[in-house]
Amino acid sequence: MADYTKDDERLIAERFDDLIAACEEKGVFRYDDDRALVSRAFEVALEAHKGVRRRSGEPYITHPIAVARICVVEIGLGTKSVVASLLHDVVEDADISVEDVSRMFTPKIASMVDGLTKISGVFNADTSEQAESFRKMLLTLLDDVRVILIKIADRLHNMRTLGAMPREKQVKITSETIYLFAPLAYRLGLHAIKSELEDLSLKYRFPDEYNTIEAKLEETKQRHAALIERFDEPIIARLKENGVDFEISGRVKSVYSVWRKMQTKQLPFEDIFDLFAVRIIFRPSPVISERTQCWYIYELVTDIYPSRPDRLRDWITYPKANGYEALHTTVMGPEGLWVEVQIRSERMNEVAEQGVAAHWKHNYLTEDEELTTDEKFDNWLGRIREALSSPTESAVDFLDNFQRSLYIGEIVVFTPKGESRHLQKGATVLDFAFDIHSKLGLKAIGAKINHKMESIYTQLKSGDQIEVLTSKSAAPTVEWLDHVATSKAKNYIKNYLRRNRQESIEHGRELFEARMAELGITPSARVFRKLLPAYGSSTKDEFYRNLGAGVITLDGLQDILRQNSASKYLKFWTLFQGNKSERDNGMVVGRRDWEEDDGQEGKSGGGQRFEIAECCIPIPGDDVTGYRDPVSGKIIVHKTSCSELTRLASSHGENIVTGIRWSSHKAMSYLSIVSLQGIDRVGILLDLVGVITGELNINIRELKIQSHDGIFEGEISLYVTSTDDLNAVIAKIKKIKGVDKAQRINS
Ligand code: MN
Repeated sequence: MADYTKDDERLIAERFDDLIAACEEKGVFRYDDDRALVSRAFEVALEAHKGVRRRSGEPYITHPIAVARICVVEIGLGTKSVVASLLHDVVEDADISVEDVSRMFTPKIASMVDGLTKISGVFNADTSEQAESFRKMLLTLLDDVRVILIKIADRLHNMRTLGAMPREKQVKITSETIYLFAPLAYRLGLHAIKSELEDLSLKYRFPDEYNTIEAKLEETKQRHAALIERFDEPIIARLKENGVDFEISGRVKSVYSVWRKMQTKQLPFEDIFDLFAVRIIFRPSPVISERTQCWYIYELVTDIYPSRPDRLRDWITYPKANGYEALHTTVMGPEGLWVEVQIRSERMNEVAEQGVAAHWKHNYLTEDEELTTDEKFDNWLGRIREALSSPTESAVDFLDNFQRSLYIGEIVVFTPKGESRHLQKGATVLDFAFDIHSKLGLKAIGAKINHKMESIYTQLKSGDQIEVLTSKSAAPTVEWLDHVATSKAKNYIKNYLRRNRQESIEHGRELFEARMAELGITPSARVFRKLLPAYGSSTKDEFYRNLGAGVITLDGLQDILRQNSASKYLKFWTLFQGNKSERDNGMVVGRRDWEEDDGQEGKSGGGQRFEIAECCIPIPGDDVTGYRDPVSGKIIVHKTSCSELTRLASSHGENIVTGIRWSSHKAMSYLSIVSLQGIDRVGILLDLVGVITGELNINIRELKIQSHDGIFEGEISLYVTSTDDLNAVIAKIKKIKGVDKAQRINS
């Protein structure tokens, strides 16, 4: 740990001067001693990290300075946040305690630094340190949202410098980023940062895909530059004619958003439309409301270009939960090019870019520079508070629930009197009822949705009008828990069940779920099929009740899960970890027959045991990453792109195993499923079987075909040796007359 060189010192001074300049430019220093406070924090941090370097080789102090700079320039925070950013790693890395910070600075700053310091200390071996750290961080959100904003800045800088990290760390960090930080940034309205976090995650997870899309976007941009100019021209003329004071700018979608669309819609790059967005930002006229002006501009634009009625997004009447306001429409430009037009006022644009922070700056900044919140944000915080206060949830559960609350969008529904309620996507009649009043929820038996009778489990859509029907004799059951999305409803139902006869069932369920969460296992239907007979129960409730009442214990749980964990989904497989020479040392790890579930484990020469993940069923050719199952010690092999893997990596990152590759053993075959769709005609089945078994000589394991109204749909399970092989089969199938679609499932 050598001291810094002259060059290092020059670099440090340069970076700090740059931070001070940014503070001055942004008007961060509001009080006389603000500047001195920041300098003092810098001195303390410099001393604390003395001689330490980052993996990139730069002096460590450049990191806190960069985080502080992001807070100022990209988020718009003030002095206290700059000070806390500079000090954010001192407690963890140096001999300075939170109390010391409180003495040297203020108790407020000390509590912010405390919130930024990761949990340390002894952990129960079964709980996830990662998940606990998040929980702690999110708890601070309730006191001071700035802590989270600084944490996001910290993450952004770490992502920008991720190239220096080893592969395992990259997987763990990008998983956390994509699972939690990007949605959190989105939820707090930090659009630019969210987008950058997503792009950076993609860049490190799938560098090839990232580079390909980036290059194609650049090429498309150049090709369309003239076209966009032609598109803008009449709009500019028309708006000027009508006295609108505005700016117009083009914007290409982010690499990540294109990639996601390609994934979810299974489309090639060329087929993704509205790659282009044009943004009109106007300075509001003092006499007309911003809202009216948005619609006025919309009218002028759609008067020139025809709009797609199904693509109008009105976030003016109903702003997004993160405060985003704008009017979006997609119009048909010259040469049939779809262009998304976003219309915003200057104020709306600032909120769109800096989110929550901009909102406060405009309306709610009090003298003490404390950030107070507005009503909508308070609602969201309230929901988090509810989730956090649920005592039964383990840290991992909490993380999953919280993550869900970030990702899912919102719907707007109406009471019979026309009052609007915001609920999360996936909410049911029960959620709606509990949102209005717990009494309504507890007595609900059904609902009239848009005047039609529906069950309490029905999922709601935006625009629905709901009248909840009640009955005195109605009461919640355990089953209700599977049909609610909000933690509010969940907590009311759980409380009711706890108070009532079902107490032991609920208690058993909690015991079980806590244990499963500790083990990092998702209690799937498959898990229950194994467990129930082993515990002599025929239903989940019976199992829970026996467990809750102490009739049975979970002592043998791991053994039961281990015994039955033999897989049912693969025939032959070969995986190895490391390089080619290791593979040649005989790291062939599995040979098992599909039909005979004899429970024997595949063993590798190096003692590694692998199992194919059931959620994504990778086959040779797929990019894979392992997850070490804490119960069996086996390495479950997922596709690197698998969302379940991402979830696991963000709470149990220590179990990630990288460097797993497929070896090519042509003779072995792998099960894969292809879904089909097409026009039904006589003889199509025969053609299918003929092509697959005859021409290609591939084994079909199962063939399911359904036909209705002249359309057929089906699934073929077949054994192939690689993705190349599978693609060849799919290409052949597609050529059969009448087949419209054929694609791999679970990809
Ligand atoms: Mn840091």
